[in-house]
Amino acid sequence: MANRIYLCLAHMGGQEQRFIQEAFDTNWVVPLGPNVNGFEEDIQKFVCSLANKEEKALSAEVVALSSGTAAVHLALVACGVGYGDEVIVQSFTFCASSHPVTYVGAKPVFVDSEKDSWNIDPQLLEEAIKDRISKTGKKPKAIIPVALYGMPYQIDKIMAIAEAYDIPVIEDAAEGFGSRFSGRVLGTFGKYGILSFNGNKMITTSGGGAMICTNPEDKQKIMWYATQAREAYPYYQHEAIGYNYRLSNICAGIGRGQMLVLDEHIAHHKHLYNLYRELFATVEGIEVHGNPSEEYDSNFWLNTITIHPDIKIKGQENAYKTVVKGAVGGAAGVVRATENAHTDCEPNSNIEALRMFLDESGIEARPLWKPMHCQPVYSEAPYYLKPCQLFGKNESSVSEGLFKVGMCLPSGPCVTDEDAKYIVGKIKEAIL
Ligand SMILES: *Cc1c(COP(=O)(O)O)cnc(C)c1O
Repeated sequence: MANRIYLCLAHMGGQEQRFIQEAFDTNWVVPLGPNVNGFEEDIQKFVCSLANKEEKALSAEVVALSSGTAAVHLALVACGVGYGDEVIVQSFTFCASSHPVTYVGAKPVFVDSEKDSWNIDPQLLEEAIKDRISKTGKKPKAIIPVALYGMPYQIDKIMAIAEAYDIPVIEDAAEGFGSRFSGRVLGTFGKYGILSFNGNKMITTSGGGAMICTNPEDKQKIMWYATQAREAYPYYQHEAIGYNYRLSNICAGIGRGQMLVLDEHIAHHKHLYNLYRELFATVEGIEVHGNPSEEYDSNFWLNTITIHPDIKIKGQENAYKTVVKGAVGGAAGVVRATENAHTDCEPNSNIEALRMFLDESGIEARPLWKPMHCQPVYSEAPYYLKPCQLFGKNESSVSEGLFKVGMCLPSGPCVTDEDAKYIVGKIKEAIL
């Protein structure tokens, strides 16, 4: 095992360079062009495909953008979210779901997850909406559920609540490209759907993202905002603030090549899920997070496990003894140095010990996303939590409880069956 095993490394299908070469040959080295259009068409075709071919065809429109974060930002702009507004965001997520809320001067309101899907709890969502209305006299301006690690949220219930209160839903399916709920691709249910093609996602354009829209008018609006909101004059006339968020034609070339292997990638992530499931079947106290019921069809972007707090790991006494020098996980490791190895909300010491053990064995593993309601930068944000029991312990929220006991394992297209066996073997070796 000379090579390090990463969580989700980019994997090229082989055709990417052909599309890039075409862009060079035809001098389309700009943030528009044939690759951008072709990439959008490929995504559109994919997201409209239904698992049940009998059903009425979906219609959806796609705009390719420079990142998933840009897509979240533009969705908020297009929903008219502005200064002083509130937006409901799933607390258990990566920061790119909620940070753009602050870009438009609005305030995130965090809602906890349910135990089964790990995603936004529909009942708590409705309680939060009611409470915000009674406290502020205003409805939240949007709802952002997140397909954590690819797992679908209960979109049927979320849409029913959103429709009852007439609040737009922005689906953050950045991690859930190709995941389905009741046979339908995530991102096609809400007013807007977010996809990410960052280097570590299901497919990559090196960096990039996309917005799924439900109709051509919304697509036009997003396109307009993404290209500096220009008015139809022979000179640059501006009546609204726009953004430079369109995807480059070079990156879109990578995307077109990646779309040719998307199905393969998804199948591989699911295959690894089944393999992990099998390999961990006899390991007591470790559970692999799976689809809660038949409606769910996760892409298993990252496979995740939970570990019983009583399990003891080699070197556990040294967990959190030293401050981390580089970034944990992720490809672009820029972190600000810290003096303190602890925060007031962190994974259990057996999780950190296991992460260190795997790291020394050449395996990248990572804690789950730290819930946003626990992040210092959001200390002022309102939140709605669901106290629960996990592994027999009382937890103040589902997301915090899971954060303490959870871990992400290598799941990408470069992870082989041998790698998975090696990883599980190492985990067994680490248990005392
Ligand atoms: C990756 C990610 C994003 C943002 O995508 P980028 O392309 O990296 O900007 C948004 N939300 C979630 C949940 C993500 O994991």
